[in-house]
Amino acid sequence: MSDIANECFHECGVIALINRDPDDQDTGNLLPEYSVNMLYQLQHRGQLAAGLSFFNNALATKIKIFKNNGLVSSVFNSADKIPSSADMILGHTRYATSGVNQIDFVQPYEMRHPILSNWFSFAFNGNIANAPELKKMLMEQYGYSFIYDNDTEILMHILALGIQKSATYSLVDALTFALSQLDGGFSIVIMNAKGEFAATRDKHGIRPLTYAINSHMFGFSSETIALDSIGFGSIKDVQPGEIVSCINGEIHFYNHTEIPSKSLCLLELVYFSNAASSFDGVSVYCFRSNSGHIMAQKEDIEDKNNALVIPIPDSSKAAADSFAYTLGIPCMEGIIRNRYVGRTFINDSKDRKDTIDLKFKVLPEIVAGKDIYLIDDSIVRGSTLKGLIYKLRDAGAKSVHLRIMSPPIVAPCFYGINMPTVSELIAPNYSTYEGDKPVSTDTNAISKEFSVESLRYLTFDEMVQSAEKEMILCQGCTKGIYPTPSGTQNYKIAVDKFFKKKRPKT
Ligand code: SF4
Repeated sequence: MSDIANECFHECGVIALINRDPDDQDTGNLLPEYSVNMLYQLQHRGQLAAGLSFFNNALATKIKIFKNNGLVSSVFNSADKIPSSADMILGHTRYATSGVNQIDFVQPYEMRHPILSNWFSFAFNGNIANAPELKKMLMEQYGYSFIYDNDTEILMHILALGIQKSATYSLVDALTFALSQLDGGFSIVIMNAKGEFAATRDKHGIRPLTYAINSHMFGFSSETIALDSIGFGSIKDVQPGEIVSCINGEIHFYNHTEIPSKSLCLLELVYFSNAASSFDGVSVYCFRSNSGHIMAQKEDIEDKNNALVIPIPDSSKAAADSFAYTLGIPCMEGIIRNRYVGRTFINDSKDRKDTIDLKFKVLPEIVAGKDIYLIDDSIVRGSTLKGLIYKLRDAGAKSVHLRIMSPPIVAPCFYGINMPTVSELIAPNYSTYEGDKPVSTDTNAISKEFSVESLRYLTFDEMVQSAEKEMILCQGCTKGIYPTPSGTQNYKIAVDKFFKKKRPKT
């Protein structure tokens, strides 16, 4: 977490709530409050901005959007700022790497049209890996123009085109068309001004989307925790490439896309998701706890009396507890994180050090003289982790043994995690390649760079074992094997650039 939380950004969380019976005013009155609660539960997926889109059939302006930069608590800090009732609501929490502070980039988006079925609002989580090709196609074949340089605008035009192409202006047809065009990892929720709703997830299930039904409402969310928090039971995953529609109080499932294979983003399990969420029936907390247990079985600690396990807060806590429990050694919070310091974009080392000092406090009373087993979920760039190891040494730690609950991150992500180049990652500099595929990583060399006594990573297979059931995970950033053609193509370009930089021609 030290690394990813500070240096890597996950693009967003989505929610939706639909009142099954528009005449049921009591449920309609609950929807606004519930939707804000759900956004709070997805705050960890995006802290830059938040937004809600309300559909109310009784009003002339059927769809109204309320959104702004800031945390959910500041955007929706007063109930009288939003409608007191709604028939349907979509929501979004945003983190992004482009157009950082522009309100125009905040979701949900809306495309107005005098025909109600063509007037729609949507929210989207993830990344479109073939965005440049789609933009070119939309401009050259259909004459679309673009104001911004972001995936969301491209997706908005693809959805509008899908609706126009549909004989009945159906949202299901629009999403079917979108799925046929998009390459990437994403989940989408969309509603029109006729009161119809639909949702889908990329064909490989890279980004998560879950749903639940009760007698009054349909609910959708990037993570189960948001549905759980407002009382939904029996929460299920939208299947990869599945389209779910909610019309006239009925829910329908369409599975007419060819589903090649599942490939859930492993970092959803390792770091990003709330520990209280679950995917495909796998509890995120148990996954992390199991990974700590598996890592512990590889240890042979001589002086257990002096050993101390320290998690990097917060996502490494479950693994650290389990690691310590399995080995019979204590686990303590030797690093305290200030949860009220917001994320900042940091470019130079002085700023980074300042931020580490601001965000983390190492307790000398706990770590001095100890052999520290420092547990982190992953290493991407490694700068923050280096700073923390330095602080541990400074606080008197006798030795530091780094244990990472995922394999080395050796390749970029094109599906919604901001690590688009190879050279910004630490592991490729110490990896050997067969062709463009990284086949091994010299962990001893990395341990020297981090100035630690030892370094161990969990292997990909060990990570899969942590799920305790068959689970197919994306291998893009850990093996350079991507589930989609654009991912594969983008990787070839990225690794080629890396090779050229690393091995300049003489
Ligand atoms: S490449 Fe890595 S970060 Fe990106 S979706 Fe796949 S597993 Fe997740």
